Amino acid sequence: MNSLAQHNDLRDLHEKVAAGERISEADALRLFESKDLNAIGAIADLVRARKVGNRASYIINRYLNYSNYCILSCQFCSFAKKKRDADGFQLSIEEMVVKAREALAIGITELHIVGGLHPSLPFDYYTGMLRTLHALDARLQLKCFTAIEILHLAWLAKKSVPDTLAELKAAGLDSLTGGGAEIFRKEVRSAIAKGKESGEEYLDVHRTWHQMGGRSTCTMLFGHIESLADRVDHLRQLRALQDETRGFVAFVPLPYQPEDNDIPVTTPPTGFDTLRTLAISRIYLDNFDHLTAYWVGMGLKLAQVALSYGADDLHGTIIEEHIFHMAGATSPQQQTEAALVKAIREAVRTPVQRNTFYEPIKTWDSTPADAGNAEAGRSKTLDSNLATA
Ligand code: SF4
Repeated sequence: MNSLAQHNDLRDLHEKVAAGERISEADALRLFESKDLNAIGAIADLVRARKVGNRASYIINRYLNYSNYCILSCQFCSFAKKKRDADGFQLSIEEMVVKAREALAIGITELHIVGGLHPSLPFDYYTGMLRTLHALDARLQLKCFTAIEILHLAWLAKKSVPDTLAELKAAGLDSLTGGGAEIFRKEVRSAIAKGKESGEEYLDVHRTWHQMGGRSTCTMLFGHIESLADRVDHLRQLRALQDETRGFVAFVPLPYQPEDNDIPVTTPPTGFDTLRTLAISRIYLDNFDHLTAYWVGMGLKLAQVALSYGADDLHGTIIEEHIFHMAGATSPQQQTEAALVKAIREAVRTPVQRNTFYEPIKTWDSTPADAGNAEAGRSKTLDSNLATA
């Protein structure tokens, strides 16, 4: 495949990347303006292979939204509700424990917990939630809260961000989520997420967490009103913070979902746009170890193809997703471990079950002759997954 990039207009960039040199913002923009998707993919695949070899990962996880009540009304958001809305919800800690126990029974190693900016829940609801869930199972990792939630909790607790993060960490927080980055440029941000934290504030929360020894992921919501230069600028700011802290474990690009929200977008991200954005992210973010193809936003079929365009991770089983589905995502609510393993094997990669920090939990046998048959070497987790399905 690399011959695709060696014999065309992008040859100089291929050579630069092959030599281990960092590409510039102008190079990234040039890649975005190229129509040669396969050449871009070939360069990204070179970086991916250098980072992770033939492995591609997934996690057995569960999403858990404690509430969708939110004091903000970001224009792109279909998840947030007000107390007057019939479809608003709020879970008690006991209700969260029931859902967590059910998920632990099918082998999850991570709870991914986010919510809206709740108007009245006290700070000790959040620390109590973490403490209770943390005590359920030693193997469970808690990946919780976006940067704006952290700022909201700091305001609630009347504490500084470092003190707030320290209390949450002491209660059991393992990792921050990457949600809420959207697009950093102020003009775009105020048009799609008025009232939300600035790009600088998002980065500051993650910087503070990293300086405390914490790790997190980061995201970019693309394919709405932003320009290609805005995407490059967003990646530039993430790469700069990663140079500083090395605290991001992965980048997770999020294709915009155009349904049921207030941003009129006539051309939401196509397959072409999604693949090139992942591939260029993989090439540009040379200081990130992992790139996740988020199947919820692009469907598992395209996420599988993205494994040849720079991605080395398919995210997880998820079990119950609200945020993208309330915005019109047509992907299923969950994936089984078998479906993720099958997708990875068909892409001729070695499946690896990972934890929250992208560290391997289980490496599957090398790809069997029948690449599509996930039964051939299934794990204990899969066995119990199937047994309880
Ligand atoms: S994106 Fe987050 S902060 Fe914005 S309205 Fe939705 S839940 Fe609230």
